Amino acid sequence: MGNLSGKRVIVIGAGLVGCGLAYHLSRMGRPVLLLEKRNIVSGATGRCGGMVMKIDGRDTDPAEIAKRWVYVAENDRMLNAFGEELGVDFGLWRRGSLDIACSDEEMDLLGELVRMQHDALGDEEIELLDARALRRLSPVMGDSCKGARYRPSDGCLDPFLLSHALLRKAKEFGAEVRTWTPVEEILVTGNSVSGVRTASETIEAGTVAVATNGWAADLLPDLPVVPLRALAVITEPAPPVPAFTFEAELHTKIVYGCTQTKRGNILVGGPPERPASRDEQFEEHVSFQELQFNTSVLTELLPGLADLNVIRAWSGAMGIAPDGLPCVGRLNSCDGLYVAAGYPNGMSYTPVTARLLAELIVEGQSSIPLETLDPNRFAGRRYDWPETYDYTVLAEYLNRAG
Ligand SMILES: Cc1cc2nc3c(=O)[nH]c(=O)nc-3n(C[C@H](O)[C@H](O)[C@H](O)COP(=O)(O)OP(=O)(O)OC[C@H]3O[C@@H](n4cnc5c(N)ncnc54)[C@H](O)[C@@H]3O)c2cc1C
Repeated sequence: MGNLSGKRVIVIGAGLVGCGLAYHLSRMGRPVLLLEKRNIVSGATGRCGGMVMKIDGRDTDPAEIAKRWVYVAENDRMLNAFGEELGVDFGLWRRGSLDIACSDEEMDLLGELVRMQHDALGDEEIELLDARALRRLSPVMGDSCKGARYRPSDGCLDPFLLSHALLRKAKEFGAEVRTWTPVEEILVTGNSVSGVRTASETIEAGTVAVATNGWAADLLPDLPVVPLRALAVITEPAPPVPAFTFEAELHTKIVYGCTQTKRGNILVGGPPERPASRDEQFEEHVSFQELQFNTSVLTELLPGLADLNVIRAWSGAMGIAPDGLPCVGRLNSCDGLYVAAGYPNGMSYTPVTARLLAELIVEGQSSIPLETLDPNRFAGRRYDWPETYDYTVLAEYLNRAG
């Protein structure tokens, strides 16, 4: 292997992670070749709502939340600094986030969680809003909203603008990018990575970083990251609506909404119509029933916006690991092989983990330890994934699997 290809890092996948990796690696002086099978941000990143919610879900274990906080707090700091660093307005809009309760039981649970976050984690920013306080904050909310957990500093960003800004800078630092170039195989010589094989050629490199999220298992079959399909619909522009980034459980399905784009369009999204096989998770067509359900999120939760026209709908696949956390680091199976995949809510994790992985690759260690996200943490475990699944089925299976 020549000197250049020995130092070269091949990054596979041009989503927010791959673009971030290309930026940090090339900035740190490494020759980078980014290979993408379709176009830039054609995967989850280009289909994502851009919602930045530091702590989502209903995790009751303070120790687990604290582990995640280390990364999301640094991610948040990086998002604040990116505007100047990248010289671009990528639509970061901190309008606050809501975790909405649609029943009295949910409201009780959120109350417990907020108390735990205050007492065990010292998270003073988080607030519990009752129905009246919620409607004062966001008058478009309907009667089905019983209250919410509220964090004022969350919000949303434009994942297209951020990814392209990172890539532009990466190219300025010398990174090479090839689109419509699917990687078919990672090549290994002895116990070390030696390059990749695409449909048309073999490319030598001493380091390969897989950033293919939902597609990770195509190249790394032992990594337990599975694809998970999600949908989104977007409305015509509307007048400004306060505090709109939200998550809620509606008719047992998790739905979310994102703060408006700066142009005024409102994006809401949620799950597919029914559980589907692993291959079907990549389906990009949206059925009429799916369009209906995702549009009903608007009419049920936000009747104040029910008259808005939906102008587009789409779907995409993200990657998810058994504990819901990304897998970021060096793979023990072979020298020179790294991965950053398994991001169901990448806006709160991808910028920081792309940087930490670049540090690990170039400097041998990262400024924040990556142990929690170690991709080898599932070694020796076997997962008999359900044949068909959606988020709810997957969550139940993983709960059972422990
Ligand atoms: C509908 C929807 C809404 C979402 N909303 C939010 C949200 O509001 N907030 C949030 O935080 N997260 C959200 N997410 C999740 C978020 O999009 C992801 O966490 C994030 O984009 C992950 O980025 P990534 O770079 O890891 O993956 P991706 O953007 O999927 O990038 C992976 C890339 O790898 C490429 N690739 C795959 N295989 C190969 C191969 N063999 N060779 C070359 N290239 C390959 C793919 O084409 C793709 O471009 C949403 C996801 C979806 C689908």
